[in-house]
Amino acid sequence: MYKKVFKKGQSSRAQSSQTQGPIVITRDQHPVSRQDISSNALKVLYRLNKGGYDAYLVGGGVRDILLGQQPKDFDIATNATPEQIKALFRNCRLIGRRFRLAHIVFGRDIIEVATFRGHHDSQQAQSGDKKSKQSEHGMLLRDNIYGTIDEDAERRDFTINALYYSVADFNIYDFANGVKDIENRVIRLIGDPETRFREDPVRMLRAIRFATKLDMTIEAETEAPITRLAPLLDNIPPARMFEEFLKLFVSGKAVANFEQLRAYQLFTYFFPIVEQALSAPDSDNLQALINLALGNTDDRLANEQRVTPAFLFAAILWYPLQAHINQLKASTQLTPQDAFFAAYHELMSEQQRSIAIPKRFQLPMKDIWILQDKFYKREGKKAFKTLEHPKFRAGYDFLLLRAEVEGGELLELAKWWTDFQQANPDTRSQMIKSTSKNTSSRRNTRRRRKPKSSNGGQRQPNNH
Ligand code: ATP
Ligand code: MG
Repeated sequence: MYKKVFKKGQSSRAQSSQTQGPIVITRDQHPVSRQDISSNALKVLYRLNKGGYDAYLVGGGVRDILLGQQPKDFDIATNATPEQIKALFRNCRLIGRRFRLAHIVFGRDIIEVATFRGHHDSQQAQSGDKKSKQSEHGMLLRDNIYGTIDEDAERRDFTINALYYSVADFNIYDFANGVKDIENRVIRLIGDPETRFREDPVRMLRAIRFATKLDMTIEAETEAPITRLAPLLDNIPPARMFEEFLKLFVSGKAVANFEQLRAYQLFTYFFPIVEQALSAPDSDNLQALINLALGNTDDRLANEQRVTPAFLFAAILWYPLQAHINQLKASTQLTPQDAFFAAYHELMSEQQRSIAIPKRFQLPMKDIWILQDKFYKREGKKAFKTLEHPKFRAGYDFLLLRAEVEGGELLELAKWWTDFQQANPDTRSQMIKSTSKNTSSRRNTRRRRKPKSSNGGQRQPNNH
């Protein structure tokens, strides 16, 4: 598709040498038009140019248009420093310590403007220099050395992300042969892969994300060190891992990303406990529940429906939580409810060491889990109370997934709740009466069958 629009063989190097300077692709040779770019991004580009600075659309904004996709956001690179950018825009906020950036705010739309990054000399990085800082593993802890556009291009991650589009001349400047890689659908790191992954291990995750999003292949040399360097992800702060989780799992490609992360042994840096359970025998239900939840999320996003990460966390962590609850029940005197809360706290404090799940997602996730137990308790007014629970819908959707995975008794329960929601008041009362009858007769049966049962035939929540 792209090959047809891009006129081959007409681009030229900016400088005479074939190895220096970018390939320049003029307007008549490429399909990027201002109509593809948001008006806010255009405003920022023009204002920077008017202020006497160079400014380019860069990264996903150019790459996705070339691929015939709609960019998710528009990133701009400029030779203006953050302070100079701030002086030009009233609606500008400077953010970030590790990587200082300007945000130009247009209501809910934010255009990110980055000053060209320069090279770090490693002495500077390891000394106490405030602008640049490197860890013992070669990870860049701070990247605020400014430079030229050439240097900026070399500091970008993949060749396909080092394309710069200018509204001053409408050219695309291709510094790392990214257009060729776009044509060949290849994800290739700029520079030495190991060094670049060490500088920022998140690039391993980005390689996978771009490969699935753009339907591309990770080039062999870029791919080779990934699994070996995977443990470097342990050094990434949990808050950044959470951001990456969202990009991988709430992006429309969750199923593919999950599969790839597991294949490269990267998934464990998001969910170590879950990875352990997935690698153990008998992980079919866990695998199935995760895939169903991720597939649902992908479908919903494709249909422009709302999704919440809380639902995904509930699904991914459900079986490990159950295992932990069961373990506590077997080894302590805790009531089922106390076992749930104890297991919940232990699991979550462990989990938070990998990805920092904000409270606003933890709370609804917990509600979804608590509802799973409430769905069993339908007598008296209980079913009506459950129906009014603010997270009923998510809890019910989760029950449907569990029923799909496990079948049996859960399918009946799910069907009961489906019917109950649709029933009129009379039928609802009827349904509750017959459930209570069923439940009590089942309890009696159990008592008769197991007269010595220590829990008196009580139903066990959450361990079905
Ligand atoms: P998308 O926005 O669709 O996820 P993108 O390529 O625009 O893709 P962003 O995270 O928005 O990705 O980053 C914008 C650009 O900044 C990238 O295209 C890349 O050039 C550069 N960049 C981002 N993260 C890194 C990184 N970790 N290392 C090097 N360059 C990066
Ligand atoms: Mg972007």
